[in-house]
Amino acid sequence: MKASEIREKFLKYFEKNGHTIVDSSSLVPKDDPTLLFTNAGMVQFKNTFLGQEKRDYVRATTSQKCLRVGGKHNDLENVGRTARHHTFFEMLGNFSFGDYFKEDAIKFCWGFLTEELGLPKDKLYVTIYTDDDEADELWQKVVNFPAERIYRLGEKDNFWSMGDTGPCGPCSEVHIDQGEDMSCGPNCGIGKCDCDRYLEIWNLVFMQYDQDEEGNRVPLPRPSIDTGMGLERITAVCQGVQSNFETDIFQPMIQAVAKKAGVKYKEDSEIDTALQVIADHSRSIAFLITDQILPSNEGRGYVLRRLIRRAFRFGRLLGLTDPFLHETTAMVVEQMSGQFPELLDNKDFMARMVKEEEERFSQTLDKGLIILEEEMEELKKAGKNLISGETAFKLYDTYGFPLDIINDVAEKQEFEVDEDGFNAAMKEQKDRAKAAWKGSGEKNSGAIFRQVLEAGLKNSFTGYSELTTESRIV
Ligand code: ATP
Ligand code: MG
Ligand code: MG
Ligand code: MG
Repeated sequence: MKASEIREKFLKYFEKNGHTIVDSSSLVPKDDPTLLFTNAGMVQFKNTFLGQEKRDYVRATTSQKCLRVGGKHNDLENVGRTARHHTFFEMLGNFSFGDYFKEDAIKFCWGFLTEELGLPKDKLYVTIYTDDDEADELWQKVVNFPAERIYRLGEKDNFWSMGDTGPCGPCSEVHIDQGEDMSCGPNCGIGKCDCDRYLEIWNLVFMQYDQDEEGNRVPLPRPSIDTGMGLERITAVCQGVQSNFETDIFQPMIQAVAKKAGVKYKEDSEIDTALQVIADHSRSIAFLITDQILPSNEGRGYVLRRLIRRAFRFGRLLGLTDPFLHETTAMVVEQMSGQFPELLDNKDFMARMVKEEEERFSQTLDKGLIILEEEMEELKKAGKNLISGETAFKLYDTYGFPLDIINDVAEKQEFEVDEDGFNAAMKEQKDRAKAAWKGSGEKNSGAIFRQVLEAGLKNSFTGYSELTTESRIV
C-alpha cells in the first residue's frame, strides 16, 4: 500500500464513522503567538477544544502538516539518526469536540489498525498514563486487549501538551514491536529506552485540561479527543520496512540525490544520514516557503535558513558542492502537490529562493573555513589547543557552521572545541530569538512574502535578492 493510499484509507475510515474531513492548516499557526510552528493535528482546533470557537461538526479528521523544529517538540537533532523522526511530517488524526471520549477513541483506533490495515495484534503494545485506570479497563473491555501488554508511564510519555500552555491531557499510545534485531540491548523496552524496536505509532490524547502559564490545569468545558499518528511511521509499518526513509515517501528523493552524488544508499551509515537529512529537510523547506516563510536571521525564517544550511552542509559531505536543494525541493512539489496543491502556487519562486540561499551559504561556508584555519594557526603559535566557545559560536551564527563541522576540522589538527562555551552562547541567542519572534513583525509575514514574490517575478534575480536582506524580512 502506498503512503497516499494509507492517508486516503484513514480519512475515509473516519468519515465513514461520522467525522468531517478537514484540510490541513498552515505550518504557521493562525493568531497563536504561543507556538512557532504547527506541531500536531490539534493546533488548528485549539479554540474549539477550549470552547471558544464553534464549528458545525463535532467530529473531524485530518492529515495535518507538522513541523517539529524548536519549541516543546523539537526533533531536529534526531533526524537522519533515528528511523522515525522528521522535521516535517504528516500527522493523521481524528478529533472529538465534546462528543465521544475514551471508549470510542480506543475502538476506532483498534478498528483501523487491526481491521483496516490488518496489523498483527500480538505485536501491538499499549501505554497509558500512570493513574488512568479507566483507560486500562477500557482497552481490556472494549477491544479485548491483554492486560500484560498495557504499560503505565508517567508525565513525559503519557501526558500530552501542545506547548507550555493550552489544551492537554493524559494519553494512551500504541506501539508496535519491530523485532529483536531492532533492539538496543538488554535494557530495551517500552518506557525504558528510546530506540526504534517498540515503535510508537499512534497517540490518543484524552483532552481534559487547559494549562495556564503557571502550570495550573483547568478542566475543559467538555472532555474531548485528539489523536495523532505519523503517516510516515504507519507507512513504514505497512510497507514492511524498518525505517520511514525506506518508504515510497522518501525513496525517490534519496535515490535521486544518491545518484547525483555518485553514492549508494544503505552501504555506509554516514552517507545514509546525509541522504536522509537532505530528503527530510527538503520537505520542510518546500512546505515552509509554501506557507510564506522566507529565510531570515530570526524566528521562523531563521528555522528555514538553518534547515537549508544544514541540508546543504550534508550535501558537501556527499561531495555535492554546487546548489542542489532547489532541485530536491522541486521534487517535493512534484511528489506532494496532489495532496497539497498549495505547493504549486509559488514553485518557481521557491526554486530561486532556495538556490539563492544555497549560493549565499556556499560563500560563507568557505569564508568560515578560512577563519577557522586562521584561528587555529594563532592558537598554535600561543601553544594552545582550545577553540573558544565564542569563536565556535561566531562560526555557527555568522557563517552558519554547525558545531560538528568545527569539531571535524579541529579534531584533525588535534584541537578541541569549548562546547560548554558554545552552548552558553547558543542559549543566549535562543533566548533572544524566542523573545524576538513572540511580538515581532512576523504578523505581517504574508504581506512581506507577497512583496518579495512580486518583486522577484518582476525584477531580475539581484532585484529580489536585495529585498531578501534580513532587515526587510524580520
Ligand atoms: P516520539 O516519542 O517517537 O518522539 P512523540 O511522543 O513525540 O513521538 P506525539 O507528540 O505523541 O509524538 O505525536 C503523535 C504521533 O506523531 C506519534 O505517535 C508519531 O506517530 C508521530 N510523530 C511524532 N513526532 C514525529 C516526528 N518527528 N516525525 C515523524 N512522526 C512523528
Ligand atoms: Mg517526540
Ligand atoms: Mg513518545
Ligand atoms: Mg507520543
